[in-house]
Amino acid sequence: MGKCTAIVLAAGKGRRMNTEVQKQFLEIKGHPVIYYSLKCFQESPLVDEIILVTGKESISYCQKEIIDKYSLSKVKKVTAGGKERYDSVYEGLLACTDTQYVMIHDGARPFVTQEILERGMEGVLKHKACVIGMPSKDTVKLAGEDGCILDTPDRRSVWTIQTPQIFEYSLIKKAYDIMRLADMSSVTDDAMVVERAVSHKVALVQGSYQNIKITTPEDLLIAEVFLKNSL
Ligand code: C5P
Repeated sequence: MGKCTAIVLAAGKGRRMNTEVQKQFLEIKGHPVIYYSLKCFQESPLVDEIILVTGKESISYCQKEIIDKYSLSKVKKVTAGGKERYDSVYEGLLACTDTQYVMIHDGARPFVTQEILERGMEGVLKHKACVIGMPSKDTVKLAGEDGCILDTPDRRSVWTIQTPQIFEYSLIKKAYDIMRLADMSSVTDDAMVVERAVSHKVALVQGSYQNIKITTPEDLLIAEVFLKNSL
């Protein structure tokens, strides 16, 4: 198997959290949110190196207070992200060298596990592109501009999407290169880039209902409970 790089994203401002500290650096059970996913990639035999993408102003904090402090030896680069998530992903892709597979992960998702990485790697070996997600527990509605329901997709075919999203490097880099010349404003995940730019099929792989993204204050409370149960 070729080299696999995990790109961990931590350059978001986290405006929906309403705190001074960005959500990926807030502490749960005594450690910053970002530490938990970095630890998972560090311990995975599938991952050769990690690129951490963060705000320009947070690079030295990450180096000292996270990478050095927790001896995360697989983190080979800490690079500055961009304005939108897709800008940060692109910076991460540009920072890769001789990589065959990339796992693109939201640093705000601390509950990624070794099993999820294993299922994701199986998926990428088979399909070249896969995303982690779970069947939706809720019924999902499409809203019209008038605030009324436009349509209701059959719940059996609705998944909510998580990360990591795992690709052959050449495929995702090509897709991003193409999409960067077009309007990316509606792009919220990496699968969309592949779907739109290169029309390659992206496989869905089961993650877990615990693999939540820390976005709003109540997510921190939920995270504390998950961590308490895992001890
Ligand atoms: O904003 P959202 O919750 O969708 O962010 C998902 C992940 O992408 C977070 O880990 C966040 O730090 C990262 N991100 C980034 N650069 C941005 C925006 C978000 O690295 N400009």
